[in-house]
Amino acid sequence: VTDLKISPGILAADPTRLGEEIAQIATEADWVHVDVVDNHFVPNLSFGLPVVRALCATSPLPVDCHLNIDDPDRWAAQYAQAGAGVVTIHAEAARAPVRTMRAVRAAGARAGLALCPATPLEPYEGVLAEADVLLLTIGPGFSGQSFLDFVLPKIRRAREVIDATGADVLLQVDGGITTETIVACAAAGVDIVVAGSAVFGEPDRAHAIRRMRAAAQAGQAAADVLQETIA
Ligand code: ZN
Repeated sequence: VTDLKISPGILAADPTRLGEEIAQIATEADWVHVDVVDNHFVPNLSFGLPVVRALCATSPLPVDCHLNIDDPDRWAAQYAQAGAGVVTIHAEAARAPVRTMRAVRAAGARAGLALCPATPLEPYEGVLAEADVLLLTIGPGFSGQSFLDFVLPKIRRAREVIDATGADVLLQVDGGITTETIVACAAAGVDIVVAGSAVFGEPDRAHAIRRMRAAAQAGQAAADVLQETIA
């Protein structure tokens, strides 16, 4: 059973008190997920570079920056330079994803490639030898949507590809993750889950994260038993 990371998404937090919101998750969460949404790639607007820079300067957790934006080739490295621990760009928006992710790593951050639910994994399988992958389990840009089950086979396939290459890359899922849906994600072998409303919609954020972690461990244990049965 591997340690699954939890990255609460602050798109679901109170935007007037982001610092306090992050302080409330600091002891239980692994990363804090920041959705940069530009009103072009998707029709919503959230945070930009100055807010991310301020969060990076004060957050006790690594800032996991998901760029739901057009033209990420132009912007991604600047988010790494601003102090983000992870910068993830969208395959649907990038013109030169490999070059851009190399620039992100050169600036000192982990680089990730995000795929929308309807985007197939196959054209990008080669990239998984050198970049993290984020599989969206909802449409991008808005918090509070329901998990799309049809992405689960893509999650399992990504796990197989990553294991086959043996690369030091992480598999992240983002969207509609709850104490119920995290079970199937953990069983499918994800390394990191983003949880928005399931954490910031609860009065006790730390308790909500502990419940999610317990549910994930149950999912991993069930998958391990199944593996042994097959073997
Ligand atoms: Zn996200």
